Amino acid sequence: METIEKLFSFIDEYSEEVAKEHNITYLEGVLETLNTWLDGDRKPSINELSKEEIRKAIQLAILKGMRKSAQPNHQMTPDSLGLLLGYFVEQFYEKEFKSDEKITVLDPAIGTGNLLLTVMNLVGDKIEGTGVEIDDLLIQLAAASGELEKQPISLYCQDALENLLIDPVDAVICDLPVGYYPNDEVAKQYEVKSSEGMTYAHHLFIEQSLKYVKDGGYLFFLVPDHIFESEQSSILNKLITSKAWIQAVVQLPEELFSNKAHAKSLFILQKKNDTGEAVKEVLLAKVPNMKNIKALELFFAKVRKWKKEQKKF
Ligand code: SAM
Repeated sequence: METIEKLFSFIDEYSEEVAKEHNITYLEGVLETLNTWLDGDRKPSINELSKEEIRKAIQLAILKGMRKSAQPNHQMTPDSLGLLLGYFVEQFYEKEFKSDEKITVLDPAIGTGNLLLTVMNLVGDKIEGTGVEIDDLLIQLAAASGELEKQPISLYCQDALENLLIDPVDAVICDLPVGYYPNDEVAKQYEVKSSEGMTYAHHLFIEQSLKYVKDGGYLFFLVPDHIFESEQSSILNKLITSKAWIQAVVQLPEELFSNKAHAKSLFILQKKNDTGEAVKEVLLAKVPNMKNIKALELFFAKVRKWKKEQKKF
């Protein structure tokens, strides 16, 4: 059996067992299993485990748990999306990573941590992570996964749209929660606040992220495909134009989403600073079907060519 399968079986069997014994959900059972593993009370009998093997086995167990219960907005970000986003992080921070500099990255809706950990594992030990999450089961899963993968992540369990006690970060990555934000008292402090009715949470998250990233820092968002077609989009547009330079809008392959209505794009911004300038040309691209290797290679070549042509990098 492959290592990941073996490790998944270990997590799965124990999670089923504790869920039954304590009458808790399978996902709570996964958390219990990871914590028991961390305490050393029950460990998988596999000698060498890489960070990615641990992440992938945990991802499988969480996917199984979420299939039973989670709402679309709480869904974990699968590694197909995480790896694509991570590729762009690598391109934008190539200079820092080559010179072995670490960067700080915030995920203000960290969920289970799968997106942030996929990116952290991809670039090697070059990211210090910070995560915010409102759901205490998900953030505990993120904490246990980060610890097992020995990745440094500081976590805050709170509403990410309220004030955050974190220092400005080099970059933000986020699979944005989509939909209306229920707390109008908080929303009214934002420029993107809708003049009528509730404001979109994903718009508020973009504004909040721009506040906590350093000048000149990059932000990588997974956004709904039709983000600029809603009745609230003009006010979002205004905010973005005043505070950031759009770098890229990359449409992701539809087959990565179980429902076309939930399809997403990768939206990359740079927070304005005094010395920078807008890119010569915003990258507008569509990722081909991930099974078409030739087309994927052409896509990555196009991205690298575009990047070279932007003298700012
Ligand atoms: N990237 C995450 C992962 O890999 O598990 C999944 C992100 S999921 C699409 C969006 C997350 O935003 C959910 O975990 C949800 O609980 C969280 N969320 C929604 N509203 C929030 C808020 N106001 N503050 C903090 N987290 C919030």
